[in-house]
Amino acid sequence: MTDISERIKALAPSATLAMSQKSQELKAQGIDVINLSVGEPDFPTPTHIKAAAIQAIADNYSFYTPVPGYMTLRKAISNKLREENGVEYAPEQIVVGNGAKQELCNVILATINPGDEVIIPTPAWVSYVEMVKLAEGKSVLVPATIESNFKITAAQLEETITPRTRMMLLCSPSNPTGSVYSREELKALVDVLVKYPDILILSDEIYEHINYTGSFTSMASFDEIKDRVVLINGVSKAYAMTGWRIGFCAAPLAIAKAVTKLQGQYTSGCSSIAQKAAEAAYEGSQECVEQMRQAFERRRDLIVRLAEMIPGLKVNKPDGAFYLFPEVKSFIGKTDGNVTIHSSGELAMYLLDKARVATVDGAAFCLDGYIRLSYATSDDNIREAMRRIAAALAELH
Ligand code: PMP
Ligand code: GLU
Repeated sequence: MTDISERIKALAPSATLAMSQKSQELKAQGIDVINLSVGEPDFPTPTHIKAAAIQAIADNYSFYTPVPGYMTLRKAISNKLREENGVEYAPEQIVVGNGAKQELCNVILATINPGDEVIIPTPAWVSYVEMVKLAEGKSVLVPATIESNFKITAAQLEETITPRTRMMLLCSPSNPTGSVYSREELKALVDVLVKYPDILILSDEIYEHINYTGSFTSMASFDEIKDRVVLINGVSKAYAMTGWRIGFCAAPLAIAKAVTKLQGQYTSGCSSIAQKAAEAAYEGSQECVEQMRQAFERRRDLIVRLAEMIPGLKVNKPDGAFYLFPEVKSFIGKTDGNVTIHSSGELAMYLLDKARVATVDGAAFCLDGYIRLSYATSDDNIREAMRRIAAALAELH
């Protein structure tokens, strides 16, 4: 009677959210855990954005919203895409939903048939493979490691394409590695994709503004593939608004309509108040975005410097997002006399138990032998966490 469907049984729980939940539970028990697991800005939402939400409540924005979002917000997003990214998507091609997460899943459900192949460069964010599973598609993973700065090459992409390939997913700046593809590197991938006109490109650009390279290229800015690029973005990371739950897809019109149909049957339009806040985020001053970006860059430099001092960790310098993804293979097979570490997952648990620092196992991002550290936290937390990690790792022999 309480049997769960095969579909949901096959689904893995989100490892990022699970680890964060675990660290919150320990904290509630009075245990001093530093949470480097979940990736979310630690800053409060900027004041002018909060003020817009309060105003929306006062102005009675309390009714059901249009399924794809308020037209005013879709226009603001269309303007943002033109002005910041140099790409044209009409407001009708934009669907706003409950975070980038919902729009990613909607696009996959709206376009993938059972058995269709979706190419995913790895390491990749925890939810992509599970979303493809929900759509009964087949994830085809293209591995990259620290040696290639966690980026795949055009040759790797081409080798992976088959007659069943329906979609390629790309995330740059990347979660979990922080790697950012340059325009030239993207162009090399585009030169391959041009030859396969049936492949849809799903480009997750949620970390667009958390970028230390000084330049960002949207996949939709390549004219030769623009008509089959679906962009994903939102306010969670750039404006410190993870809890407000506003994200969007910008897509070919037929896909935007299909996503709207799906959304209309199972969630409706998203929160009126949060949409008005997002509108203020896109239309107001962008100074807050740059201030937070600078803080993340300083923290990136701090955590990289501290991590490089820890014997046995192999570190690359991430160019964006707020994650460090060190290789931890040298600790596998070692013991502190009590616990023997057999995998990066066991190392993440060891760090939680021994160092009281929550991280995420690289295996959750499809790459064993690594862990992810989110540095979206204070300098003091970063220093203390790295001190504890260094001490705990030093006990492994
Ligand atoms: N894509 C990536 C790569 C992410 O890291 C996140 C963060 N959870 C999301 C999408 C979803 O963001 P949100 O749903 O908060 O907009
Ligand atoms: N994107 C963040 C992370 O990877 C938030 C948690 C999630 O939605 O996975 O930690």
